[in-house]
Parts: sequence; C-alpha cells; structure tokens
Amino acid sequence: MNIHQTITKAAKLLDKNNIKTAHLDSELLLSKVLKKDREYILLNSRENLSKKYLFHFANLINRRKKGEPIAYLTNNKEFWKQTYFVNKNVLIPRPDSEILIEEILSIYGKEKRLKVLDIGTGSGCLLLTILKERKNFSGIGIDVSKKAINVACFNAKLQHLNNRVKFFNSDIDKFFIGKYDIILSNPPYIKKFDLKYLDRDIAAYEPKIALDGGLDGLSETTKVINKASYLIKKNGKLILEIGCYQRNEIVKKLKNKNFYINKIIKDYGKNDRCIISTKL
Ligand code: GLN
Repeated sequence: MNIHQTITKAAKLLDKNNIKTAHLDSELLLSKVLKKDREYILLNSRENLSKKYLFHFANLINRRKKGEPIAYLTNNKEFWKQTYFVNKNVLIPRPDSEILIEEILSIYGKEKRLKVLDIGTGSGCLLLTILKERKNFSGIGIDVSKKAINVACFNAKLQHLNNRVKFFNSDIDKFFIGKYDIILSNPPYIKKFDLKYLDRDIAAYEPKIALDGGLDGLSETTKVINKASYLIKKNGKLILEIGCYQRNEIVKKLKNKNFYINKIIKDYGKNDRCIISTKL
C-alpha cells in the first residue's frame, strides 16, 4: 500500500470510531512512524510502505481509535513556540494555558533578572516557555510526581535550558527553598466527582493526579496559595490557572493571604482561567 491509500484507510477507520480529526490524525501518526514531517507525506503520497512501517502505523491507529490522545502517541505537543515531549505521566499542554504565558510576558520586560517557581510543573512547559522568552530569568519547578519530573528534566535538555532551571520531586507542603519574584501554577482543579464527565480522551488517559482537585476542586489550589504566600517576595506576583466557577472563592483565599488581585483573564471559551495577584 502507498502513503495515500494507507492514510485514507486509517482515516475511515478513525472516522467510524467518532474521532473528529480522523484525516489529520492519520497523517500525524504516519509522519511519526516514517520520522518525516507532514509535507513529506503530502508530497510523496505514491510512495509504497514496507510491512514494518504498516505494522507500526496500524498499532498507533488502533490506539487512537480507542481514544488515546494524539500527543501521547506522537510523544510531543506544541506549546507557544516550542515542541515539548509528553507522555502519559504529564498533562498535555493546553492552548488555554498560553494565556498565562502571554500575561507574564506582557508584565515583565527582557532586562529584569527574576526568579520563578512553578508549582506542579508537569511537563515543565509553562516554566520552560517563560525561561525561553526571558533570557535573564531562572527557575525552579516542583512536582509531586517523580515521573513528571523526569519528563520536565528531559524537556529542559531539549530546550537547552538546564543551566537556568532545576526540577525537584516534592510535595508543595514539604518545599521550603528560596524566595521568588514570580510563582506560577496550573494545579489540579477538577472536582473529584466531575472527573468522569471530562472528555473521553482526557478522562481515560491523562493523569488523574494532575486533574483531581479533591471534593471541592480547590484543595490543591488552596495549598498553592498558602505556600506561595510564604515563598513569594514582597511585591512578587502569583499567576494561577483556575477552573470555571472557582473565581470568587479563590479571590477570597488570595485576599486572606494578603494578595492584591490585579487581573482575572478569560480563556478562549470565555471562562475565567487565570488570576494575577501581587503579594502586599
Ligand atoms: N484544563 C484541564 C482540563 O479541563 C484541567 C487542568 C487542571 O486541572 N489543571 O482539561
């Protein structure tokens, strides 16, 4: 079978299994198998494929058919201007989280030398993107998952940032090192009993530990606010990703810890997504 026939057949199969981006996904997975980009696939559609490639491809299509996210199958995801390594131990970077990046870059110019802490760093995509854009910043990322820290370290190497970033496997409750100008966090904020209502791809494949915010969805965010209040410098900024409908309760918690609310930003779906606050 040639490239064109292989993709058409796979796309039909995915489509039958309710995968919305069936054709694109087939192209991306075949690119991954052939270790070529999508242009190559499109320009060489008559090239015949060996059994070895077809077998590997069929295996990936079979996994995609059942709902496994494309990013876990290709082991990468684009975020901001970089491509990050991802696997099932980390949440897949979301376009909505780029709002945090946009906001931080608009607040801080290139010349400042600032220290950043990322709580619950996962793949490291938030922290590493900031460091990539701001050459004078240095950062620490922590995560309770050792496997996530391994992914973050790998991404730091990929992005050539190992000299300005350190990652630690630690629970936020047990972390006491340093004082920071900026603290950012995209903590798990979904209510435990709502996890099952997430999209099939998310619910079945993404790590629960990165999503589960306890019974009220706020248990991890509360820990982050309490510890950030101790680890942040005076006038330092806390930049938090939040879930839908959590805004009022989180604002209250921030004010209790002496944070001034600068701004609440909506995501592409018009939900409150990010709170910027300053420690007074
Ligand atoms: N934005 C994620 C989702 O709803 C949740 C991320 C999180 O809990 N921090 O898919």
